[in-house]
Amino acid sequence: MDRDLFESDHVAFRDAVRHFIERHVEKDYERWEREGLVDRTVWHAAGEAGFLGLSVPDEFGGGGAADFRYNAVLVEAFAEANALSLSSGFGLHNDVVAPYLLELGTDEQKRRWLPGFCSGDIVTAIAMTEPGAGSDLKAVRTTARPDGSSYVLSGSKTFITNGIHSDLVIVVARTDPDAGSRGISLLVVERGMPGFERGRKLAKAGMHAQDTAELIFDDVRVPRENVLGEPGAGFGYLMRNLPQERLSIAVVAVAAARAAFGWTAQYCRDRHAFGQPIGSFQNSRFQLAEMATQVEITQTYVDRCVRALNAGTLTAVDAAKAKWWATETMKSVADKCVQLHGGYGYMDEYPISRAWRDARVHTIFGGTTEIMKEIIGRDLGF
Ligand SMILES: Cc1cc2nc3c(=O)[nH]c(=O)nc-3n(C[C@H](O)[C@H](O)[C@H](O)COP(=O)(O)OP(=O)(O)OC[C@H]3O[C@@H](n4cnc5c(N)ncnc54)[C@H](O)[C@@H]3O)c2cc1C
Repeated sequence: MDRDLFESDHVAFRDAVRHFIERHVEKDYERWEREGLVDRTVWHAAGEAGFLGLSVPDEFGGGGAADFRYNAVLVEAFAEANALSLSSGFGLHNDVVAPYLLELGTDEQKRRWLPGFCSGDIVTAIAMTEPGAGSDLKAVRTTARPDGSSYVLSGSKTFITNGIHSDLVIVVARTDPDAGSRGISLLVVERGMPGFERGRKLAKAGMHAQDTAELIFDDVRVPRENVLGEPGAGFGYLMRNLPQERLSIAVVAVAAARAAFGWTAQYCRDRHAFGQPIGSFQNSRFQLAEMATQVEITQTYVDRCVRALNAGTLTAVDAAKAKWWATETMKSVADKCVQLHGGYGYMDEYPISRAWRDARVHTIFGGTTEIMKEIIGRDLGF
């Protein structure tokens, strides 16, 4: 389909990302899938290529482009290459964590963290979810007790993207147990702080090269200089930044669906049964027609949201619509594509097998489909 979202600089950037994937990702990706995480060197290579901190001002070593279309191109290219563990890992770093550091960081914090963020020396994560609190963020129990010039952080987080590689983690913690959602703060925990431990690298149904992990905080002394923004204002910051995270996931989802559709359309031309290409059966033709329609219409809406984000007008409700719709589309397209591949769709030698496994979580992380519908439904006045 023709997309008028991008200009020539974005097209050139996409070529650079594709070249990077050929050079630094393709040959190792299956090994990373087996090992359960990517090599740390790919983060440095991405930093060197200028792919980390796209929106970070150049004085800190970033790309200096406050234009989300570059972020979109980056994660799309990884999704098209069936490397969703990396669209997720890099997407989390660039699209989710960077805005917190840029919008809330003091000059001193920016000087301390952003150069490493852009070079790949500092891999980041954000830790909201706990064993007992996912959708219900206000129920977080990790606490940070003020004590002199520090906070003493204790609790545990789970399902944290980049958890093993992370050097800097934005931790959502309760600094005032009696203040409800106004008692939540964002604390930056750094690798090596005594009491900060990684738990298990979690075994998952898909996204095998993504180092999703548990994090444990056992009386970690976090200096007050590591609080992001105002203490107690954390919940508001999360609500402000979640739309960009959700849009980033929607961008990945539609790119992955488009890629799955492309491989499958080709397969339907090549594979024969009963003396004809399987794509010529009416059912296959209709499935392909449905998917082509789903992908194109979804892309149009997601692109509109990218434009809105750049213009500063993307609402939480529109981001929720993009997130649930695009990820449910991704899931249903991947599933139909497996079916059209027959038994080969279930074999790892075909890309659709991994794409189907990796698609599943996208309707869950970043806010489930049900929570997205709650946001939209409440906005409708129900
Ligand atoms: C691979 C992976 C990576 C992740 N990365 C991160 C990360 O980097 N950082 C982080 O903080 N978290 C991360 N998460 C956590 C993710 O955001 C949560 O799993 C998600 O928000 C759902 O929370 P939960 O798992 O506790 O499910 P629950 O909240 O327990 O939900 C269980 C079910 O109940 C439904 N439900 C809950 N509340 C309602 C309601 N009010 N109305 C209707 N239905 C409801 C849900 O939709 C879901 O179907 C990740 C998760 C995964 C699997």
